[in-house]
Amino acid sequence: MDKSFQKIRNDFPILNQRINNEPLVYLDNAATSQKPNQVINELVRYYQNDNANTRRSVHTLGERATEEFEIARKKVQVFLNAKDSREIIFTKGTTDSLNLIASTYGEENIQAGDEIVISYMEHHSNLIPWQQLALRKNAVLKYIGLTKDGQLDMEDARRKITDRTKLVSITHVSNVLGVTNDVKKLAIIAHSHNAVIIADGAQAVANIPVDLQDLNVDFYAFSGHKMMGPMGIGVLYGKYDLLKSMSPNQYGGEMIDSVKKYHSTWADVPFKFEAGTQNVAGVIGLSKAIDYLNDIGMKNISKYENELVKYILPKLLKIEGLTVYGPQDTKNHNAVISFNLNGIHPHDVATALDMDGVAVRAGHHCAQPLMNYLGVTATVRASFYIYNNQFDADQLIKAIYDTKEFFN
Ligand code: PLP
Repeated sequence: MDKSFQKIRNDFPILNQRINNEPLVYLDNAATSQKPNQVINELVRYYQNDNANTRRSVHTLGERATEEFEIARKKVQVFLNAKDSREIIFTKGTTDSLNLIASTYGEENIQAGDEIVISYMEHHSNLIPWQQLALRKNAVLKYIGLTKDGQLDMEDARRKITDRTKLVSITHVSNVLGVTNDVKKLAIIAHSHNAVIIADGAQAVANIPVDLQDLNVDFYAFSGHKMMGPMGIGVLYGKYDLLKSMSPNQYGGEMIDSVKKYHSTWADVPFKFEAGTQNVAGVIGLSKAIDYLNDIGMKNISKYENELVKYILPKLLKIEGLTVYGPQDTKNHNAVISFNLNGIHPHDVATALDMDGVAVRAGHHCAQPLMNYLGVTATVRASFYIYNNQFDADQLIKAIYDTKEFFN
């Protein structure tokens, strides 16, 4: 890595504080990441110098804001190796992107009796939109099962995806089990049955290199806030021809070609899907976050996180009474680790860890069907990012031992 760990760490002022008299160890990155100074300063710079509404004002600030907005779109395209920048639509986040597909493509293409295939490891954002669409359309929702070690069961995927399948939607990286799914292979299977495939990239884009042309998915959704960008900004990628064939999801300013008294026509993709004033600062902040990630390199980030998993996972597995959910080895394990401590409620564990300055999430992680599948109601989840290191991992382990002692 070109940038040293300490240099990266210094870019994140929020991490430099004590919680309950202990150094803050922030391990809730799967919920949201922290923001480097570069992104925070960019938001200030934009509001201090360039703030204006985009695509409507011919004055200098309006043109500057519009130009920066479109440069950001291009940056997202290159970052993810999409074919065309028109395939990048700015949304509020992953949830918004997935709902957009369900309410437009889904509404227009799913008929009674059609099948929609998802998996047991989906976040509610990639589950409820399809569940509700299936209910509205009298379609059938099917779940791909998991193998014993918490991987997507590809044999079951081959059984569930058939000629009746119209749409497959699968998470790229699980927000609970930490596994990366073979989305490229799933796309081949889905396309062989003429189904479209969507990938939920909320946990992937921040942590692993993503090449959309290589994955060959039809749609891809992610959030800026999990990749060091601001909250309230996200992206929906869609293949151009598909986006072109879809109706707008919202009506209003800047998404039109022309408006007559009783009839309107729509702007081309992507503007057709960006009605009303956009989150321009969010887009510009996201653009800076991509610069930051590119500066370190996505391969380096993924490798670094892998090394951290190799360090922490064996230590966790050695703790008596601790159960890790998902793979017990480090082969296909991103830096998201879910676990429970025997006899102690996950919320109590998280509260006790916070007493030692360690921030983790406890709960169902917006994945209740997965919790049912695993036979639990909740887990503790520790998720690491590029600004965490072995010290953080050791603090987590120490805090878990403290918690065990406190409750025993
Ligand atoms: N999908 C996955 C896998 C997630 O982890 C999350 C957030 O935790 C989401 C979707 C929803 O993202 P957002 O709340 O940013 O829309």
